[in-house]
Amino acid sequence: MDSSFDVVIIGGGIVGSSAAYFLSKAGQRVAMVEKGRIAGEQSSRNWGAVRVQGRHRAEVPIMLDSLEIWKELKTELGECVNFTQQGQMLVAYGHKQLAGFEETLTVAKEFGIPSRILTPGEIHDLLPHYRSETCVGALFNPLDGCAEPELAAPAIARGAAR
Ligand SMILES: Cc1cc2nc3c(=O)[nH]c(=O)nc-3n(C[C@H](O)[C@H](O)[C@H](O)COP(=O)(O)OP(=O)(O)OC[C@H]3O[C@@H](n4cnc5c(N)ncnc54)[C@H](O)[C@@H]3O)c2cc1C
Repeated sequence: MDSSFDVVIIGGGIVGSSAAYFLSKAGQRVAMVEKGRIAGEQSSRNWGAVRVQGRHRAEVPIMLDSLEIWKELKTELGECVNFTQQGQMLVAYGHKQLAGFEETLTVAKEFGIPSRILTPGEIHDLLPHYRSETCVGALFNPLDGCAEPELAAPAIARGAAR
């Protein structure tokens, strides 16, 4: 193994793999050190959500950039990480919670995110199997999505290696 690197990254989860990938693309000589297997811990066990809505204002520009990266990843890596933009819904079970979504909508509007409040009837139209009568509404962003955690970090790490 070459013993001369610009950067050494400890840990091959999604954070380490992504850092290795983008640093390599930027021309840095990177070594990533993983004690087990790539994405063997939390990065393969999460729900795979790629969510822009419902975040602090300061996080939104980062998430919007991230969304663009996820959209291009399959083409860029030549590997599928099962990224889809099927939308994400935050369901409210009380009117107080529903009213709390208003602030999220203000932030969404600021950044041109198409989040909107759904009525239980609209939730039923999107999710017929869900017992929508148990909720009072939902916050929905059709542009949010998910990727497959088992695939993502290993594919990105392979991209870094290439
Ligand atoms: C229930 C749950 C659901 C979640 N859902 C989502 C979601 O839907 N969307 C989302 O974006 N995030 C989600 N997250 C958060 C997400 O899973 C984590 O933020 C992310 O996986 C953290 O990645 P990481 O690379 O920092 O850590 P890890 O995946 O834990 O990677 C750290 C790596 O470092 C290695 N390591 C540690 N110590 C050493 C050492 N000394 N030497 C060498 N290697 C070492 C470990 O083996 C491991 O592989 C969820 C988290 C939880 C708990």
